[in-house]
Amino acid sequence: GKKGRSSSCDPLDEHTTVVTSPPEDEDCCICCEKLNQPSGYGEGKPEANIVVKLDKCKHMFHKLCLQAMYESGAKNGCLQCPTCKTIHGEKHGNCPQGLMEYHRLPQPLTSYEGCQTIQILYHISPGVQGPEHPHPGKRYSCRGFPRVCYLPDNERGRKVLKLLTVAWKRRLTFTIGMSTTTGEGDTVTWNEIHHKTEFGSNHSGHGYPDPNYLDNVLMELAVQGVTENDL
Ligand code: NAD
Ligand code: ZN
Ligand code: ZN
Repeated sequence: GKKGRSSSCDPLDEHTTVVTSPPEDEDCCICCEKLNQPSGYGEGKPEANIVVKLDKCKHMFHKLCLQAMYESGAKNGCLQCPTCKTIHGEKHGNCPQGLMEYHRLPQPLTSYEGCQTIQILYHISPGVQGPEHPHPGKRYSCRGFPRVCYLPDNERGRKVLKLLTVAWKRRLTFTIGMSTTTGEGDTVTWNEIHHKTEFGSNHSGHGYPDPNYLDNVLMELAVQGVTENDL
């Protein structure tokens, strides 16, 4: 496939290749028709027989089926394989405007006594929802900002910090919706990437010690398409 960042707004063109002789014995898992038969979304369109394969995972679909899937989804600039979930392209979220900053604290976190601590602060202020949000034009609230989070200042912690920075730039860290903690709607909430918000205690379960945290957050970042390849 093509390398580098493209300004193309069609991830289908960017991340698929046309298959010239589709296999006879395989189905398109989107429309359940055979790949060598027209797309179930074809309706007599001339391109109904075009089959494409995703560049990374090589899974094959009718072009029209994959297009219909993308159009009906979040249209977030990337294409996720419906078979194996591999993300093609960069996933972008709808985190509102704000600021991410970090500092070093000399005190260690429980269970990371050998090193200092990275403190991350996220600042987001209330505003009006844009077209990418659930209720465009309506206001959103921000509770508990700046939100303050902690990582051990060791090699793995610094790697997580870099990846969290990539996630922030791609607007993946927070979203707007209903808070499961408070039940409030149209508010800024964490979005699928866990952060440790307690230092020196663990009342909420979002503190230390948690020997699996760095592994878990690396996995959550990877699910969002943020990996070491982005550094
Ligand atoms: P949420 O309650 O909708 O949950 C979204 C995700 O955040 C879930 O995965 C959940 O596990 C995780 N999460 C829940 N509590 C967390 C915490 N204390 N630290 C880190 N992650 C947490 O998300 P939300 O509305 O963003 O609320 C999450 C937390 O944010 C609240 O529990 C609270 O600690 C904090 N918050 C503080 C205030 C405040 O006024 N100080 C207001 C709202 C939320
Ligand atoms: Zn199909
Ligand atoms: Zn796949």
